[in-house]
Order: sequence, then structure tokens, then C-alpha cells
Amino acid sequence: MDCGCTNCTCGDNELITSLCPECGSTGNLIPEKAVKANLKKEHNPAVKNVDIFLCPDKECKTSYYSEDNTLKFNLSDLKRPLWYKNNSDPVIACYCNNITESQVIEAVENYELKTWQEIVLHYQEKTLCLCKKINPTGECCTEFFYSIINKTLLSLGKESVNIPGGCTC
Ligand SMILES: [Zn+2]
Repeated sequence: MDCGCTNCTCGDNELITSLCPECGSTGNLIPEKAVKANLKKEHNPAVKNVDIFLCPDKECKTSYYSEDNTLKFNLSDLKRPLWYKNNSDPVIACYCNNITESQVIEAVENYELKTWQEIVLHYQEKTLCLCKKINPTGECCTEFFYSIINKTLLSLGKESVNIPGGCTC
């Protein structure tokens, strides 16, 4: 079983980090395309020839920032909520295909679907895998997506599925 991605390059991101100017958490360097795809359009011109990082802390209101602190964006500067931040609504499970956490739960509960591909195809005509350009982290959603599937399966008293190794980034 794999995640359905073809030609996946999600694991190619370099691991360069910088501390969040707001909370001090260690954030990873994010591909510029992913930053621009997630920031509201008016902020895109500011992101030029600068390394941008993403705050991983669920309580912090900061999203993207530059190492020299000249740029610091809030959650409200993003087009869609960051799934791991507190009070995100909706909680997005897959950014490439626009699938929410509640849609995943519904697909598992009501249609007995158990894979990323089955669930995306339940709601969309085809699957897209452009994590490096679309996911706010530039990485694949597989791990979070399957954690929702498994949480739901367990709540139904069913056996959990293995998280695919092909694209866990
Ligand atoms: Zn922070």
C-alpha cells in the first residue's frame, strides 16, 4: 500500500531550521512555492530572496517568518488554517485535495474507506500530490491523514491500518 503519490518529491526538503521570533520554537525551512501558495496574495511580493520558516507550535499565532525577523506573518495572513494550530477551523487533512478532518472521519465511519487514495477519490474526481507546492509545510500529509483514519477506526472498535512508508516524509 502506498499513499497514492506518483513521482513524490516530498522528502527532498533540506532540514534547515530557525527559531520562531514569537515563541522560540524551532521551525523548518519551507520551500518558497509552498509559502507563497499559503500566504494571502497581498503578502507574496514580500517573499523574495529570503529564507522562510514555519512555526510548529500549536499555541503560537505566528505562521511564517524570516530568519532576520524582517518578515513575520500571523495565522490570519494565511489563505487556509494550519491544521496543527489550536482552534483551526476547518482542520485540513490534505491541502492538495482540500480534504478536511471531518470528511476523513465521515469517509471512514460511513463508507468504510481506509486509505488516502480511497478517501480523496470519494470527494474529488482525481488525486493531486503537490505537497511541495501546496502543503503549508511543503511536506506530505500522509502521517496526519492516517492518524485521523486510525483514530476513527479505533473509536469504531476496528483494527488500525499501517501508515504507508512510501511517502511519510
Ligand atoms: Zn511561534
